[in-house]
Amino acid sequence: MSRQLIAGNWKMNGLTADAEALAQALIAGVASAPGHADLLVCPPFTQIATVAGILRGSVVAVGGQDCHMQPKGAHTGDIAAPMLRDLGAGFVILGHSERRQNHKELDETVREKVLAAKAAGLIPIVCVGETDDQRRDDGHEDVVGWQLKGSLPDGFAEGDGVVAYEPVWAIGTGRTATEADVAEMHAFIRAELVRQFGEAGQTTRILYGGSVNAGNAASLLAVPEVGGALVGGASLKPEDFLAIAAAAPRG
Ligand code: PEP
Repeated sequence: MSRQLIAGNWKMNGLTADAEALAQALIAGVASAPGHADLLVCPPFTQIATVAGILRGSVVAVGGQDCHMQPKGAHTGDIAAPMLRDLGAGFVILGHSERRQNHKELDETVREKVLAAKAAGLIPIVCVGETDDQRRDDGHEDVVGWQLKGSLPDGFAEGDGVVAYEPVWAIGTGRTATEADVAEMHAFIRAELVRQFGEAGQTTRILYGGSVNAGNAASLLAVPEVGGALVGGASLKPEDFLAIAAAAPRG
């Protein structure tokens, strides 16, 4: 088993003082208790440079929460992948359900963004996951299968691309998927990745995301085919984020 990745999605939270305090607390935490998981935080765009400056040289990597599919141009208000790289980001979350819902992002859009991220030297974390209704209708595998097929370009698994399984009904709700749900969906995603990418799909990390916290992390991270966690709310509390990281099994 390779090292797990524990990634924090700060979403639209954090003014400069908050971001600085959070980054400093993470530095202090990993210095006193170096863990055995890879760590990543994804602050809002406005805080990436500040956080990357504080975390430079530490074991905690920095990522963005979205990028545009073009490297530059007339796209008012958008952020290009090379801009994230320029600020010190090494990763970017793409196709998060909040972007799929709030910005009507389609799988094709996500796929183009993945290509843009890779071209800029960023590692994409592509989110997939079904809604409550889709699960109730027993459509979760179909939905996630289509999202994987539509969002992941050729060659995705040959690089360092990461997939995050995030059931929409578990995000920010406190309703965590059961270990059985996670086991079923991660096994399904692994099989799809292998079908899509052959041998390379065997090693792609598959993160679980959806109300992961310090109390449930150990059992979720121990599920087969779980390669780490994408953490929203709990990543804003450094002690919780570090406790989640400490719960990752040794790689
Ligand atoms: C997320 O935003 O990716 C997420 C999983 O959020 P939360 O942990 O708050 O459910």
